[in-house]
Amino acid sequence: MALIVQKYGGTSVGSPERIRNVARKVAKFRAEGHQVVVVVSAMSGETNRLIALTKEVAANPDPRELDVVVSTGEQVTIGLLCMALQDIGEKAKSYTGGQVRILTDSAHTKARILNIDEAPIRRDLDEGNVVVVAGFQGVDEHGNITTLGRGGSDTTGVALAAALKADECQIYTDVDGVYTTDPRIVPEARKLDTITFEEMLELASLGSKVLQIRSVEFAGKYKVKLRVLSSFEEGGAGTLITVEEDKHMEQPVISGIAFARDEAKLTVVGAPDRPGIAYQILGPIADANIDVDMIIQNIGHDGTTDFSFTVARGDLAKAQKVLDGVKAHIGAKAIESDSTMCKVSIVGVGMRSHPGVASLMFRTLAEEGINIQMISTSEIKISVAIEDKYLELAVRALHKAFGLEAAA
Ligand code: ADP
Ligand code: ASP
Ligand code: MG
Repeated sequence: MALIVQKYGGTSVGSPERIRNVARKVAKFRAEGHQVVVVVSAMSGETNRLIALTKEVAANPDPRELDVVVSTGEQVTIGLLCMALQDIGEKAKSYTGGQVRILTDSAHTKARILNIDEAPIRRDLDEGNVVVVAGFQGVDEHGNITTLGRGGSDTTGVALAAALKADECQIYTDVDGVYTTDPRIVPEARKLDTITFEEMLELASLGSKVLQIRSVEFAGKYKVKLRVLSSFEEGGAGTLITVEEDKHMEQPVISGIAFARDEAKLTVVGAPDRPGIAYQILGPIADANIDVDMIIQNIGHDGTTDFSFTVARGDLAKAQKVLDGVKAHIGAKAIESDSTMCKVSIVGVGMRSHPGVASLMFRTLAEEGINIQMISTSEIKISVAIEDKYLELAVRALHKAFGLEAAA
């Protein structure tokens, strides 16, 4: 008998029939003698609908109240799934994040889990219940409802698995595992049997939404056995996220390609080229709570320099306003912005031992006529910022150039 935490995403619970399908899947694990904790997302489209609703009422909704509204999607699903389970003869009990007491910090819309009281869940399991927990939500020390950021149900699943010391955390979704890149963009993408935590962390942080990055961080930290599987196809082994590289296999140089749409670039033109200028530009941006991604400072001419960086497109207007103030303060010539950027990244631990990866990447993009506007690298990834109309072309060309579609 094992204790398994299963998380089902929005598409997997997207209709009454699909919820009944999840109930049948869970019942099968119960019949094999396992204890099962299920984490569910809101039905597909529901979280987007709720966010849109808040925007119709207020241009800038208060984050506390935003969380009150968007957390309701998951509450519907836990109740429905319990009913479906009970309907086929399973004992089942639902919990919101607050009822479990998934304690988080107070950073509304992007809260972090601090602690989980797992005792009531354990009791219910021992009494033969399937325990169904709402993903994506928690409660802070003052009793305020919080949410964990988009895709946060993955993190609820892994955090519960860690707290319960579960034997495995299974993330059921609408693809049958982690692929070399998003199979919706590249149909030739190949499913990976395993991927290292290190690589999965990079892919998630660079835009692959198959797992929320915090869920991968959690799993790595607490040694949770984490697997991504299809909720629609039976019998597949999915993708196991592993600590170790598979030493028996010839490691491919690149394991995967990630991309992030909706980036924007800002340039401070003609900033005075003197010590402290980066701080004077980026300090106020950080104070405004805007995350900066790639940064470039050009070589100075005549005592001035151009300074560019990228932010999420949703933060562009805010960042521009901040820079207008900075421009006057430091005496820069102009602020330029470009809202049509995206980022494409190649990731692989094999990069460490293979020189020439960057040059193949740049050559491939050059052959497609794609202009690289910014580059950033780490030990196991290379990212480029390019115009967003080239995103699909770049991903497909790189996927082919690095031989990712071929069997490993
Ligand atoms: P869920 O609602 O189940 O949480 P998500 O939509 O959040 O599902 O994540 C699954 C989606 O992630 C897939 O449908 C796929 O389009 C996308 N995706 C992006 N990159 C990858 C990748 N490398 N491997 C598999 N899926 C990926
Ligand atoms: N429902 C939330 C979202 O759409 C959380 C999740 O699905 O993981 O982001
Ligand atoms: Mg998701």
